[in-house]
Amino acid sequence: MMENTQSGMLARLRWLGLTTFLGGLLIVAIWGVLALPVPIVDRMLEADIRRQAELWERRVILHMSDVQRTFDSGVVVEHDAEYLNMMPEASDVYRFKLFEADGTVFWSTRASDIGGQNTKPYFLEIVSQGGVYYNHMEKPASEVDDLPLHVRQMDGDKPRHVAEIYRPILLNGRFSGAIEFYTDITEIRNTFILRVRILLSVLCGVAYLALATNSIVIYRSNRKQIKALSRQSDSERDLMNEQLRLAREVRLLGELNEWLQSSRSLDELFDMVARFMTHILPDAEGSVYVYSNSRDVLDGSASWNGGNHKAHIQPESCWGLRRGRTYEFGATEVDFVCEHAEPHDGRPYFCFPILAHGETVGLMHLRAKREDCECFRENKKLAQMCAEQISMAIANVRMRDQLHDQSVRDPLTGLFNRRHMTDTLRKCLKRCQGQGARLSLIAVDVDHFKKFNDNHGHDAGDMVLRAVGSVLDQACDRDEIACRIGGEEFTLLLPDLPAEEVIARAERLRQAVEAITVRYGEKSLPRVTISLGVAHYPTHGTMPQDLMRAADEALYDAKASGRNQVCVADQSKPRPHPDPRQADPMGPSEPQPGQSPLAAE
Ligand code: GH3
Ligand code: MG
Ligand code: MG
Repeated sequence: MMENTQSGMLARLRWLGLTTFLGGLLIVAIWGVLALPVPIVDRMLEADIRRQAELWERRVILHMSDVQRTFDSGVVVEHDAEYLNMMPEASDVYRFKLFEADGTVFWSTRASDIGGQNTKPYFLEIVSQGGVYYNHMEKPASEVDDLPLHVRQMDGDKPRHVAEIYRPILLNGRFSGAIEFYTDITEIRNTFILRVRILLSVLCGVAYLALATNSIVIYRSNRKQIKALSRQSDSERDLMNEQLRLAREVRLLGELNEWLQSSRSLDELFDMVARFMTHILPDAEGSVYVYSNSRDVLDGSASWNGGNHKAHIQPESCWGLRRGRTYEFGATEVDFVCEHAEPHDGRPYFCFPILAHGETVGLMHLRAKREDCECFRENKKLAQMCAEQISMAIANVRMRDQLHDQSVRDPLTGLFNRRHMTDTLRKCLKRCQGQGARLSLIAVDVDHFKKFNDNHGHDAGDMVLRAVGSVLDQACDRDEIACRIGGEEFTLLLPDLPAEEVIARAERLRQAVEAITVRYGEKSLPRVTISLGVAHYPTHGTMPQDLMRAADEALYDAKASGRNQVCVADQSKPRPHPDPRQADPMGPSEPQPGQSPLAAE
């Protein structure tokens, strides 16, 4: 808008400059037409009169009976006088005088002139030296003799233009006298001036027209060139902006990728996604959904830039997920709104399925901030690339989670393994020491499991271990964890529970395992029982090893007392610290070999 106004003003200024230039030229031309002809015509007339005067002089001399004698004596014979008197009627000369060599007028059409002497410098310096003297002057009309005789049209009392010319009479190479002619040049001068003015006007008009046409043509072609240059510079600027935009997108995508790759969890990843997407696509509000473990729904994981996500959506509620490719609402004449995008106000949106290792793991939903937002669609490719980066990052985090899971899980039962149990136990104890919280440990061992294996086989034994593990796992909630620490031995960590509640929980576990029936092929396997040993922090120890040993000893007591029962660690029993490192409450995580009393049994 601003640029249009500026270019309009520039065009107006250029046009003003051109018209001023042409107007100036016109004024100069008019001035020239009015002023130039006068000196030109005067010079032309002077040349003309000089030629005429030569003729007049010759005519006078030819008609004189004896020129030499007449000029030498200064006496005009009657015959000559007759002719001389007729001269004004027979020519344009209205007055003329004859001079002797010394400048004395010896004859004139005006009798009063006779006897006078011309002592003017020009006579002595020019005429006496054989030169012609010309003078143009203005005289009152009354001073022009026989005016009606020489003039076609009287012009009132206006002054008359008169040419005065002296012709020297050179006889036998000697200056013998002179003739002075007066002629009225007013009419011829005016006629000449008029003609020259007309001629100059026509020439100036033609020149002016040619110049004006030329100027306008140059102006127009310049304007075209300027427009073409301006278009070219506009397109170059657009190109540069586009390249800058692409460079920025590439840089942001690189940064996004780097950050996403370094994220440690999905939560952290979605936080990064939200911040980056707000920056990369400020005209789009968005949300991300990820398939739940059960894969029947997608969980809303993050949203940004004013977007919001539902807690769960069905895979069938998205056209992008159903069709397995990007869905763009608002790109075609007939569109269907995804259920998860309801309520919908007509704004265009994209649904990008998020794929990781060939499997759809989620959905990125982007919606234009405004309905008329053109740049939203233009950014589809960029959004697509973002979705791909996010897909890879999710895949990486998941793979890392899987690897981590594999390193802390027992593959047979899915429970946490010994390493995770000891790590968690140390962390829990640290927290308990800091906050004065409680922690209980239940050591679990399946009774006579060797015999069970011997009787029913290892596979049947595995099935039973899985069933026991499942019962233990289900018994845990919040931050309670069940672990398989090896063979048919398990441990439960129960934070923040009163001792009675822990014992009651152990008893319920015992009963639940006793109630397990496992089908193996056609038959049901015999029921198994477990023995449980309970130890509490800080009653039975403050170190991980002390607590584990106390629980093991309680378990040993349960075994010794006939199995299938719960025993609580005995507070009165001494619990030595054989290894000096155990002075550290976070001492070695792995128990020393041979520590379990059950192992010795
Ligand atoms: P007690 O009541 O004293 O605990 O007797 P027990 O037979 O259960 O104890 P023992 O330590 O003598 O035997 C443990 C048995 O557990 C030996 C082994 O066959 C079995 N076992 C250990 N790990 C596995 C496993 O992963 N799968 C199966 N099926 N059996 C296992
Ligand atoms: Mg055992
Ligand atoms: Mg056992």
